[in-house]
Amino acid sequence: MRYLEVAGWKKNSCDDGPGIRSVLFLQGCSMNCPGCHNRDIQKRGEGSLMSIDEIISFVESRCHNKRITISGGEPLEQWEALEKLLISLKEKGFDICLYTGWDFRQIPEKVFKLVDYIKTGNFVMEKRNVDIHYVGSENQKMYHLTGDGVCELLDLRLSA
Ligand code: SF4
Repeated sequence: MRYLEVAGWKKNSCDDGPGIRSVLFLQGCSMNCPGCHNRDIQKRGEGSLMSIDEIISFVESRCHNKRITISGGEPLEQWEALEKLLISLKEKGFDICLYTGWDFRQIPEKVFKLVDYIKTGNFVMEKRNVDIHYVGSENQKMYHLTGDGVCELLDLRLSA
């Protein structure tokens, strides 16, 4: 599969992973979590189909600091094409952060070698916490991949 269903693009975000990043939102998520921030992009078939080459040239022309976050929706529900995109972005030297609602143990091992940061876990309303950077609820975690798939859990609590 060489196409991804894309929902949108955001520039200069400070909330979607470390540093100032551009965010590519992929369409569709089947988890339907109550309180989801991106409810309007949960349904597949309502986004734009873009080839990997189209996405790469779109990203290269807009993301000059080469820090990109891929979010959704649930990006890993489009894993086959997403893997190709991650490989291309990595070859081009992008710093990549992936936002997934999947639990750490559900994530294909290959992912950990292709990204620099990964946010895991779906949004859980009962665990909502606005004092943790980059996530919405306490069950969600952000990891830094330090090479060869080694994960370091980042402490994201905003200091009082
Ligand atoms: S996993 Fe994330 S994107 Fe999917 S429904 Fe839950 S909160 Fe929304």
